[in-house]
Amino acid sequence: MTVKAGIKAIKLEMNAGGRPFIVHAALLWDDHDVILVDTGIPGQTELIRDALAKEGFAFDKLTKIIITHQDLDHIGSLPELIEASEGRIKVLAHELTKPYILGEVPLIKRGIVVPPVKVDTILQDGDVLPYCGGIRVIFTPGHTPDHICLFHEPSQTLISGDALISIDGQLMPPDSNFTTDMETALKSVAKLLDTDIETVITYHGGVCNGSIRERLAEIAGK
Ligand SMILES: [Zn+2]
Repeated sequence: MTVKAGIKAIKLEMNAGGRPFIVHAALLWDDHDVILVDTGIPGQTELIRDALAKEGFAFDKLTKIIITHQDLDHIGSLPELIEASEGRIKVLAHELTKPYILGEVPLIKRGIVVPPVKVDTILQDGDVLPYCGGIRVIFTPGHTPDHICLFHEPSQTLISGDALISIDGQLMPPDSNFTTDMETALKSVAKLLDTDIETVITYHGGVCNGSIRERLAEIAGK
């Protein structure tokens, strides 16, 4: 049986110290893989299990996790998810993200060291991963120095991580309060103009459709 490659934003409604904190992780699948992009803050294994079940995937179908960058709201639940999978899930990340995931250096913004997780595959700008119909890695530093976006070729969907956010369906530049180098971040947005993007899944804000190119040009000041 062949399952068509698919992609979907999954809404994770977390509780961050008593406050609601909502993110939109991306889920991709084909007949070999189920891939989660980013993992929320620590303590979300049950929530992610439930979110996967809602989409019709048992937790043990999850084969890979791709991390967009080293911020805690993206790598937080990675150690527990890997532990819960008994090492079955493979971790993919950019080489600049790797030392943070390995717990070798403190996170840039939080200053904490996370429990170490092995990185199975190092990602580089321009890599096209042969999963779910093709996932292209686009190095987009600025929000953090290690940031990547992912482009799902069959659906022309950009998984923006925090290189872009959205408010009420409108694409916005990354939040300047949490961005280490805004000038570089906007150059990275300009770089996205090379890609024919139909839909964007922003981690903070959800899905955006329509006139993506025009909006990216506006944000990048092009
Ligand atoms: Zn974030």
